[in-house]
Amino acid sequence: MNKITIAIDGFSSTGKSTVAKQLAKHFGYAYIDTGAMYRAVTWYAMENGLINENAFKVEALIHQLPNINISFKFNEALGFAEVHLNGVHIEKDIRTLKVSSFVSKIAAISQVRHKLVEQQQSMGKGKGVVMDGRDIGTVVFPDAELKLFMTASAETRAIRRYEELIGRGENVIYKDVLKNVQERDHIDTTRKDSPLKKAKGAIEIDNSNLSLEEQFDKILQLAKMAIAGIE
Ligand code: C5P
Repeated sequence: MNKITIAIDGFSSTGKSTVAKQLAKHFGYAYIDTGAMYRAVTWYAMENGLINENAFKVEALIHQLPNINISFKFNEALGFAEVHLNGVHIEKDIRTLKVSSFVSKIAAISQVRHKLVEQQQSMGKGKGVVMDGRDIGTVVFPDAELKLFMTASAETRAIRRYEELIGRGENVIYKDVLKNVQERDHIDTTRKDSPLKKAKGAIEIDNSNLSLEEQFDKILQLAKMAIAGIE
């Protein structure tokens, strides 16, 4: 069967990674979480004193970009690849609200985007990939055979993110999570370089009122049609 590229963009906590993992598993494709790559750079900046509540050393971070090596290693038990920074497993460290509070600022730096987009294009060049993020259908793979744009209301997304963080043992309050979701939406949609927007030809999926099953069924049909389209 011929392989396609599936590009999934959308706002934070719209369930992009859930459906991306389901599709990757179904078709035996690789799943690449590009948000994890921006989070990994953010984690590096935090660990090296380049970003905190009072400082943001953009030039120093740009200078240190060659020292940042991001890789994915497949976790058999989980069924998807986890992110590593300079060989160290950081999957858990990058999912905190603190990393979320800085990541959109890091992702607005063109030099960071350039480095990560190049790596993403190289990882997906053989097709058979499901990639999720904010600029996959617009910049990374504008020729992807299937492009999706996921949306849901900010409140719905904040509840999902809040429950996820609480489930992981983080001590957060809903109000802060909602504020973070809204702030990231704003920065991601208004930044100069590759702002989040619906790609040309992308199919919009508003999943505010869809169950995970309904959503997967709908998207699976779209993927099958896209695959049939190239055969
Ligand atoms: O997908 P996730 O919420 O983990 O992404 C974290 C942040 O990384 C986003 O809010 C956005 O600022 C940035 N990002 C991006 N481009 C991508 C993926 C993520 O700018 N392709």
